[in-house]
Amino acid sequence: NNAIIGTAGHVDHGKTLLIKALTGQETDRLKEEKKRGITIELGFAHLALPGGGKAGIIDVPGHEKFVRNMLAGAGSIDLAMLVIAADEGVMPQTREHLAILKMLGISRGLVVINKIDLVEADWLEVVTLDIEEELAGSFLENAPIMPVSAYSGQGIDELRSKIFEMLEESPEKNLQAPFRMPVDRVFIMDGFGTVVTGTLIEGTLKLGDEVEIFPSGLTSKARRIQVHGEEAEVAYAGQRVALNVAGLKVSDLAKGDWIAAPKTLETTSLIDIAIKIDKDFAREIKNNTRLHLYHGTRDVLCNLVLLDEVVLKAGDEAYGQLRLEEPLSVNIGDRFVLRFYSPLETVGGGVILDPIGHRMKRVQKNEAKARFAIMEKGSLVEKVEAAFAKHSPAFPRADYVKNIYFHQETGFDNALQTLMADKVLISLKGQICHKNHLATLGQKAQTILNHHHAANPLQQGMPPLDLISRLLPEAAQSFRDQVLAALVDMKMIKCPQADVVAHIDFKIAASSHHDKIQEKVLKIYIDAGFAPPDFKEVAEQFSKGQQKEKQAFAQVFEALVAGETLIPLTPQTYVHKDFYPKALGLFNEMHAEKSPVDTKEYRDRMGVSRKYAMAFLEDFDKKGITQLLENGRVLL
Ligand code: GDP
Ligand code: MG
Repeated sequence: NNAIIGTAGHVDHGKTLLIKALTGQETDRLKEEKKRGITIELGFAHLALPGGGKAGIIDVPGHEKFVRNMLAGAGSIDLAMLVIAADEGVMPQTREHLAILKMLGISRGLVVINKIDLVEADWLEVVTLDIEEELAGSFLENAPIMPVSAYSGQGIDELRSKIFEMLEESPEKNLQAPFRMPVDRVFIMDGFGTVVTGTLIEGTLKLGDEVEIFPSGLTSKARRIQVHGEEAEVAYAGQRVALNVAGLKVSDLAKGDWIAAPKTLETTSLIDIAIKIDKDFAREIKNNTRLHLYHGTRDVLCNLVLLDEVVLKAGDEAYGQLRLEEPLSVNIGDRFVLRFYSPLETVGGGVILDPIGHRMKRVQKNEAKARFAIMEKGSLVEKVEAAFAKHSPAFPRADYVKNIYFHQETGFDNALQTLMADKVLISLKGQICHKNHLATLGQKAQTILNHHHAANPLQQGMPPLDLISRLLPEAAQSFRDQVLAALVDMKMIKCPQADVVAHIDFKIAASSHHDKIQEKVLKIYIDAGFAPPDFKEVAEQFSKGQQKEKQAFAQVFEALVAGETLIPLTPQTYVHKDFYPKALGLFNEMHAEKSPVDTKEYRDRMGVSRKYAMAFLEDFDKKGITQLLENGRVLL
């Protein structure tokens, strides 16, 4: 067992002396550094356990550094030790530290009443009652209260035994998780190179493991590991670690960075959060307040944006987003502490619900509340569904979502299978989409198609490429087909013929009015044969009435062209489909008699003006049927 004990308590209540009494080690950095020249450990001592292992004890050098030191070990603190001096009793920092321990999710601990050599027995009784009252309702409500004197040694053996007893009952740590460690110190050691220290809060780190530095993204290898000051091959969650990173300079790293298994943290500047305001916080927090965020060994400035337009007071809980002024590397579920910008008072704490926040408009914030609630306290299946639903517009692959949200969850694959089997999530060539997003795309497609059908009631539909390029302008070609296929599957659109898509309910419904116009148009073109009037003139015959008449003509004409009943030769010249092969047949006949075919002779044979003969001939050229030579045309 690799336990970490975190001390807490008002300044000068005797934390440092107490640690010395328990372990024989001096954690006061300045004194120690003067004596030995250099120390790896800073504010850390080790308590030898009866079973042979060692527990780390975090000392906190001063009030301001308290939050940082606590956070550095957060997630790995097995036991909180709240130290209260018997002569002074509960003080403001005692309360603030207690609140912070709670915000960090620490749930086990004990209370030490120190300096009992300074007080009478009846005073000690009064102080003890005071403390019990103060702790009511907190996680230390029923915790053991141990009276000691770090100075005389009274009660220290009993305290040590109690600590051993409580550590025995600590829940197991997750050693299978990817390792990560917030860096609290970086320095050069002679003959060693660049060394970083920290508390390994999750997983197992082995010699030779690849490591990534976050947020810089630099990579390295664990060349040498020291655990509690001794050379080691493996470090486990809960241990104090000094790590020699190969090939990196001191300037490549800084306090506040994370050292972790590659690609296991998300670097972000907008996070979705749930927060709780400290019960002793005396001010009000409005939307858009600038705050300090403490996470791991880093603190950054941020703006709190609330989902609800409210003012938060002591004890309130809320959902919101933090806009960070510098990038931060985090995991879902991480705890953090918020403190006021100035003066530096603890506001409250919270948990990260989603490392990838999206900027939201007011109406989106209302819709987002349900998702925040699921990410805070939903079941795994609900969370997996919510994560995919949120990212569906990007059609993510399963691994992408798993890496960001669920790499700690062994049940992810099962949850995904269930959701796919229930058709809540749909896989399109391995890219996953929530059914609601497909339905939204389907509705958008129907709107686009409806516009098209209204303007082109005599057409079967529109080319799929036109639809999809408006629906998903950025999607890859192969993927677009999958989306259309899915929409066809969902019976939102249909393919009435190859290369045409239509609204699922669309039917061509030509009116008798359309039929009449079509009849008239066809008669004009059939009667005119090789020499039809210009389109302009034909259109004029149908533009005497209202706009509707004009529109109906345009629709009929377009449908006749699309259906290849009318063949365009020039922008103004269309011929009926029966006359095109006739004109070509005539050319073939003449070509058989004499080649090349003379333009004037062709015109005479057709019995039309030069304009029409040229229109046909140039169209033959364009289609690659004929070719113009110096003295006429030949067949190709
Ligand atoms: P910290 O700020 O909580 O780390 O407190 P320190 O360990 O630095 O102790 C603050 C002062 O209280 C020092 O002068 C200690 O010698 C003194 N002190 C600590 N524990 C005891 C104790 O049990 N009895 C007495 N009389 N003095 C103590
Ligand atoms: Mg101290």
